[in-house]
Order: sequence, then C-alpha cells, then structure tokens
Amino acid sequence: MTSLVDPFGRSINYLRLSVTDRCDLRCFYCMPEGFNDFEVPEHWLTVGEIERLVGVMAEMGLKHVRITGGEPLVRRGIEDIVRSIDALPQIRDIALSTNATRLAKMAEPLKAAGVDRINVSLDTLDPERFRRITQGKLDKVLSGLMAAKAAGIAPIKINMVVMKGINEDDVESVLEFCIEHGFVLRMIETMPMGDTGRDAIDHYVSLQDIKKRLAERYPLIPVINPVDGAGPARYLQVAGTETQIGFITPMSEHFCGTCNRVRLSVDGTMYMCLGQEHNFSFRPLLRKGIPDDELKAALISAIGLKPERHEFQDKPEKVIRFMSMTGG
Ligand code: SAM
Ligand code: SF4
Repeated sequence: MTSLVDPFGRSINYLRLSVTDRCDLRCFYCMPEGFNDFEVPEHWLTVGEIERLVGVMAEMGLKHVRITGGEPLVRRGIEDIVRSIDALPQIRDIALSTNATRLAKMAEPLKAAGVDRINVSLDTLDPERFRRITQGKLDKVLSGLMAAKAAGIAPIKINMVVMKGINEDDVESVLEFCIEHGFVLRMIETMPMGDTGRDAIDHYVSLQDIKKRLAERYPLIPVINPVDGAGPARYLQVAGTETQIGFITPMSEHFCGTCNRVRLSVDGTMYMCLGQEHNFSFRPLLRKGIPDDELKAALISAIGLKPERHEFQDKPEKVIRFMSMTGG
C-alpha cells in the first residue's frame, strides 16, 4: 500500500506543518507567560528536509498543507518554505495560520511565494482586552489584516477562541468587522492543551450556545459550499452578506470520525492527533538520508499509530504539550 490511510479507514490528505515553536505573542490559553524553553535551531527541520518529507507525502496522497506554529512568520526564510511546497504538483492549496503581527510587510511576498489563504487569530477588537489576552498590540494585527486584503489573499478567516468572562461579548463586534471586510469568522472552543489550555478551560463556552444567541440576532442560513472544504468547521452564512461563520467544536461535538490530518512539529516529530501523544520522529531518518521507499514505509507505520479520537472531555489532563508546541 502506498497511500496514507489510517487504521480507521480515514485518508490522510492534510498536513499541519509547524515551522517554529516560537512566537512574538503570549496568548494566555496557548503559551505560558515568560516561556522560553524552545526547540534549539539544530533540531529545526531545514527547508530541504521539509521539502523532501512533504514531497514524499504528496506522492502518497497529501493535498493540503497549512503552515502554522508558534508564529510561522517569525521563522526566517518562511517564503522559501512556502515556495518549495508550492512547487509540488500534487499540493492543491497552501494555507497559513498567523497572528498577523508581521503581515503588513509580509503579505505580498507570501502571496507571491504561493500562500492561497490565511487564518488570522483575533479574539477581540478592544485594544486593552487584546493586550490582556495576547500581551501584544491590536493595531499591528489590524494593519496586517488590511495588507493581506490589499494583497488579494482570499479567503481571509478570523480565528476567534470564545471564552466566558474574557471575550464572549465580543462575538457580535468581531462578526460585524468580518461582514464589513468580507472575512470569514471561525469560532473555536477552548481546548485543554497543556497547563495553559487547562487553566483556560475555566472560561470554556459551548459554541452551541453562541450559535443560538447569534441565530436570534442574525438571519443564519446553511452553507452549501463551505469555504473550508478540508477543515473541521461547520458553517452557517449571514443571509444577505458574503460572510460565513464556522463553528469548531472539538469539545461539544467532536469531529474525529472525519479527521484527515496529521501535524508535523518544527523538530520533525509527527503527531497523529492534537489530543493524544501518538507520534513518530522523522528527523533522524531524514538526517540519515534514507531512500524514498524506506521513508514511505516509515510514513505508513506512522499513520498506523493514529488513534481513533481525542479524549479532551474524558481525560483533559492527558495532553502535556501546549498548542504552540504541536502546531495548532
Ligand atoms: N500563531 C498562529 C495563530 O495564532 O494563529 C498559529 C498558531 S496558533 C497555536 C493556532 C490556533 O490555535 C490559534 O487560532 C489559536 O487561537 C489556537 N489555540 C491555541 N491554544 C488553544 C487552546 N488551548 N484552545 C483552543 N485553541 C487554541
Ligand atoms: Fe502565539 Fe498563536 Fe499561540 Fe497566540 S495562539 S501565543 S499567537 S502561537
């Protein structure tokens, strides 16, 4: 067998590629304040190693790549990584998840290198709340977003982690902002990833409740062609606008049955599930220079480790990695 099919019959055609575990923000639900224990540069997969592994996966059925981190735009040479993946004929689209702090300068070069779509984290439009959540400055993110829009990157999706007592009442203002600019809104439930995520679980809100609230205020209709074919969000559209609203509900309604993805962290460890530890380390094999057929066999063994589902609800203490380590 040469294609990537897991023990539960799911075809794996989507890779979330973390190009760094570093970040210039410190969202409290993601990375511990003052955290500094990052992967050493010698352990980062090089552009060539990424290109080789993704290239072999593409021969085995990989179609979608999302570049993430940490904050992917803090990795020097990010355009080279994008270009090398864009050159692979089997890859249909390259998406990027970013906090947008560096996007004002980088939107155009990234688009030219091959980025098709972006997701930008934005939990509030209130500068003081933004600072409290992320330790960063909102105006940088807004200029980054406008630069991406001006560069013609589309769709642009806003990722908003909705949290009780933090930004639950910001949903409508962020939605209005998305309607004004033609962005997609994707709301995410807080997940118990690492100590940071577990602490943030105190602020957990079910998006089922938010959906009901929005339905009372906006005419929401089902979406026939969701903007996010390869992802886990379930979409509704605000009637009379271009804006789709995605609900990512790992906690209240998990979507593991249709999971099509694995994650590669910056050090070359492939994680089979966001909420489990099953992993396979590719760096030693790549550095040994093993031939393609052995690399393919290793990939099949790795995918064979993919568990059926996460256990965020039943065993929230299970995941010791926080989100920026795995690649969210
Ligand atoms: N730095 C980029 C960004 O913020 O978009 C990419 C990496 S970030 C880890 C990817 C996504 O994970 C972000 O949308 C962030 O909000 C989300 N995230 C981080 N920790 C989370 C948690 N504990 N629960 C839910 N989402 C989380
Ligand atoms: Fe950085 Fe993204 Fe994590 Fe925020 S969510 S700390 S921007 S990696």
